[in-house]
Amino acid sequence: MHDRDGKIWMDGQLVDWRDAKIHVLSHTLHYGCGAFEGVRAYKTPDGTAIFRLREHTERLFNSAKILRMKIPFSFEEVMEAQKAVVRENQLESCYLRPLTWIGSEKLGVSPKGNTVHLMVAAWPWGAYLGEEGLKRGIRVKISSYTRHHVNITMTQAKAVSNYTNSILANMEATEDGYDEAMLLDASGFVSEGAGENLFVIKNGVVYTPDLSAGALNGITRNTIFSICADLGLKVVEKRITRDEVYICDEAFFTGTAAEVTPIRELDRIELGCGSRGPITEKIQAAFFDIVGGRNPKYAEWLTPV
Ligand code: PMP
Repeated sequence: MHDRDGKIWMDGQLVDWRDAKIHVLSHTLHYGCGAFEGVRAYKTPDGTAIFRLREHTERLFNSAKILRMKIPFSFEEVMEAQKAVVRENQLESCYLRPLTWIGSEKLGVSPKGNTVHLMVAAWPWGAYLGEEGLKRGIRVKISSYTRHHVNITMTQAKAVSNYTNSILANMEATEDGYDEAMLLDASGFVSEGAGENLFVIKNGVVYTPDLSAGALNGITRNTIFSICADLGLKVVEKRITRDEVYICDEAFFTGTAAEVTPIRELDRIELGCGSRGPITEKIQAAFFDIVGGRNPKYAEWLTPV
């Protein structure tokens, strides 16, 4: 990953990909206090555009605020940095990774007095859970790891350290032959995937765990709310039990990387028709129309680079 051509935006400058390095004594590397975003840019009829750039940038600043980190760049500068990275690397469609971290002035748990840094990289990244997964659905397993409690790590921050839990869950599930993990909150209610929000459909109503279950406030999740409103589908945020998922008609994961990925099986129990369900298919098609610039209603969600 580190050995390729291209430019990475680092602390205000576009540097060669291979030179985008930090010191081994960086505070974030030792204690995990840092925040990041996952953003996508898509090819549209009007050229490449970043999807919901403003909302991703807002979440990055909010994550930093929650972690008591002060990003040393303005909101506009961070928006501009993301556009520049896509432009300079001449990417038609790609994934973007902004990340803010704490510098190496000193170690010790308290980062007080250390500098805060920001970088943005971008590279082509296809379907996160596979092209086949987008069409046929993926196989998921309830994790033996509990999702973050809202007062242990801060679940509305897309914090670097939150992802140890995701890595453990994903590795356990994939080593057992599944495509992804689904995590329960500390009370046993369904929370989210290792890097995705969850939706289930029952009798034509769309349900998703409310955020008190420790799930990230996903920007794709929010996009699904608008799509469902357009399709005349009711969305209910509520506590969901794992057996409610077993007996749902359809289920899918959402995320910037995962986009809209149907779930065809949970814990070896077939969900609904055992493939991508008809409502999921409609929602997925509407999603790809929006990100691909084919729905003028949502033109303001697309920022040309
Ligand atoms: N939950 C977790 C844990 C995630 O990492 C992600 C990906 N950012 C999501 C949900 C989905 O969020 P979004 O739709 O904003 O990418």
